[in-house]
Amino acid sequence: MVLPVTLLAMALLPGCSRKPFTESDFIMDTLVRIEVHGPRAETAARAALDEMRRVESLMSAYVETSDVSRINSQAGVAPVTISPETSFVLQEALRISEASWGAFDVTVGPLVGLWDIAGENPRVPSPEEIEDALEKVNYQRLQVKEGRAFLEAPGMRVDLGAIAKGYAVDRAAQILLDHGVTSAILDAGGNVYVVGSRSDGSPWRVGIRHPRREGEALAVLEASDTGVVTSGDYQRYFESDGVRYHHIFDPRTGYPARESASATVVSPSSVEADALSTALFVLGPVEGMNLIESLEGVEGLVVDAAGEITVSTGLFLTRVNP
Ligand code: AMP
Ligand code: MG
Repeated sequence: MVLPVTLLAMALLPGCSRKPFTESDFIMDTLVRIEVHGPRAETAARAALDEMRRVESLMSAYVETSDVSRINSQAGVAPVTISPETSFVLQEALRISEASWGAFDVTVGPLVGLWDIAGENPRVPSPEEIEDALEKVNYQRLQVKEGRAFLEAPGMRVDLGAIAKGYAVDRAAQILLDHGVTSAILDAGGNVYVVGSRSDGSPWRVGIRHPRREGEALAVLEASDTGVVTSGDYQRYFESDGVRYHHIFDPRTGYPARESASATVVSPSSVEADALSTALFVLGPVEGMNLIESLEGVEGLVVDAAGEITVSTGLFLTRVNP
């Protein structure tokens, strides 16, 4: 009898007949969804989500004991000892700040607090208030060395909102790989990471959200072992007198950046893709795309304020729906 043996072998092939394990949870102020295929899917997925919670406890400004909260409370006072991981993320942040001429600025905290876009009392501040906050935004006045970080002036604040989720996703992907996972997708509110391929061996297809048509994909790309991170003006915003005020600021003006509706960056490093998607959003299709084209192994797509789509030379989309 050959048949039962064949059937048994098929059933045991990882990913062939098993249902994937999926789980969602609210981490880092974001709905995180994970789908893992293969024999150890559930253990791996749970460990990956735990890892994201661990990163959150180090880097969230809302956790009182986090490295970020301690750096901020000692602004203008004294350097603070931080974990090697927070050091790494701050160094990455400073690297992207330099590369983007300060369009990405990890010391944007005073502006975030002033506008309170995602908080209880969002409002349009006065020009004087914006001026005041801008004086406290300058990544060149953040020192990170020898395991310590220091903000040079009182009132300055580090905000890792544009980069920490990317780091958490990189860590989660590494945990999945450590568990031998060869097929998974993780979506942390626009920070997508795909591990390996789908269970049938074909590449993952990642949809990029249409910035103005909810529930519709603007484009689809095939990907494996990479991060695909989108920053959009639809993620957190309020409207006043018909104007949309969203959560991504232009540190040159102190107002929400006006060039783009959404910006997507593809890189095997999710932490890099996260920081760069914010930088690309602020800089827009011309300057921003110049930056993306100058970087090795990085691709991007930006939708400008008029809905025009600009795609980097090495990015191949399987479907575009403008
Ligand atoms: P993202 O969705 O990754 O583009 O990150 C947006 C978040 O990053 C905001 O909610 C702020 O916490 C923070 N942020 C806003 N503007 C900037 C900026 N120009 N540079 C760095 N971080 C920013
Ligand atoms: Mg970002």
